[in-house]
Amino acid sequence: MKRIVIVGGGLAGLVAANLLTKCAEVILLEKKQYPFHRVCGEYISNETIPFLQQHNLLPDFEQLPRITKLWLTSVNGRKAELDLDLGGFGISRYSLDYFLFQKAVSNGATVVQDCEATSISFEGNHFVVNTTAKIFDADVVIGSFGKRSRLDKTMKRSFVEKKSPYVGVKYHIRTQHPSDVIALHNFKDGYCGISNIEEGKSTLCYLTHRKNLKEHKQIELMEREVLYRNPFLKHLFLNSEFLYDKPETINEISFETKSPVEDHVLMCGDAAGMITPLCGNGMALAIHAAKVASAVVTDFLDEKVSRADMEKQYARQWSQLFSQRLWAGRQIQNLFGSEWASDMAVNLARYATPVASWLVKQTHGNPF
Ligand SMILES: Cc1cc2nc3c(=O)[nH]c(=O)nc-3n(C[C@H](O)[C@H](O)[C@H](O)COP(=O)(O)OP(=O)(O)OC[C@H]3O[C@@H](n4cnc5c(N)ncnc54)[C@H](O)[C@@H]3O)c2cc1C
Repeated sequence: MKRIVIVGGGLAGLVAANLLTKCAEVILLEKKQYPFHRVCGEYISNETIPFLQQHNLLPDFEQLPRITKLWLTSVNGRKAELDLDLGGFGISRYSLDYFLFQKAVSNGATVVQDCEATSISFEGNHFVVNTTAKIFDADVVIGSFGKRSRLDKTMKRSFVEKKSPYVGVKYHIRTQHPSDVIALHNFKDGYCGISNIEEGKSTLCYLTHRKNLKEHKQIELMEREVLYRNPFLKHLFLNSEFLYDKPETINEISFETKSPVEDHVLMCGDAAGMITPLCGNGMALAIHAAKVASAVVTDFLDEKVSRADMEKQYARQWSQLFSQRLWAGRQIQNLFGSEWASDMAVNLARYATPVASWLVKQTHGNPF
């Protein structure tokens, strides 16, 4: 039997693992141990629903909050409301990833946890994957190791040379927040999303420029000095129950262009390119890319296409489906995080609603 090694068990890796057990032996390597929290706004675009339902990859869907409206506030606290054409739903990554992990195991995948891949080499039509646990060989490798990994360095991917200035912070809270709304609150050099997830909880997650943290040294101080200047954020922080002792944080979040195929490895999800978080679409992209990668890998293992054609087809489809959306996300992010630009975004949503809706649409795909 052919063997597929999937490096990284986030959404892209877990979905690919679930799909590919039908055609090969699947080994998924994950450096952490499930279940675990991640920095993520946890709003999933509805474009994923047909696919997730078809493959039975959604837990308790009827119980999850359905999100149909966007509230946008500017740095100085002006507010606009927008209906979302497509909308989304909320579920924590803690629950969703854990569910997909269990599903992958029951479908026959071998999931090796606490196992970090340290290098991938390709020689003579075969891969060797070195890890902190043992060495694996494989016919196909899918790289789903997220936005930034030590592996990017060993693979000499060009984007890792550039330092990225963004930091992400996430909390689960209990607060008064309408279940059909995702709110995006601007603050100086950043923006903060809030929407509901399972069990009446909400996710509060923000992205900010590193210089904010450098200036204020501690997250709590930065929140008080910078985020609280938006009155909506101040109200949220002061009137919510915070459910973690400390927030989940990540840094070095990069939106640089990457390549979907690197040294014969098919890159999936953020490893192939990350959409700016304000679009609320990174998870949909990761799931969709896993679907596309799984289809071309299946054709390759069934000997319907050569390796070269599998790689070409994947790169072409990836680019057709996602390149434009990633670009649009980078442009729209420029409307966030400054007083005048966030005011302009609020004005667009208030007085030029079709233009604002069109902009939102540029970052979304069609249901798949
Ligand atoms: C602040 C912020 C807010 C966001 N909010 C949203 C949102 O509301 N909605 C949305 O759709 N998207 C959002 N996103 C984007 C979304 O989180 C990502 O696009 C999505 O998680 C990508 O999934 P992935 O599988 O590619 O990567 P990940 O989910 O990051 O998974 C990668 C996995 O690989 C593992 N790994 C890394 N290196 C190795 C290695 N060498 N060996 C083994 N394992 C390894 C990691 O431990 C991790 O589990 C947000 C992102 C940020 C930063």
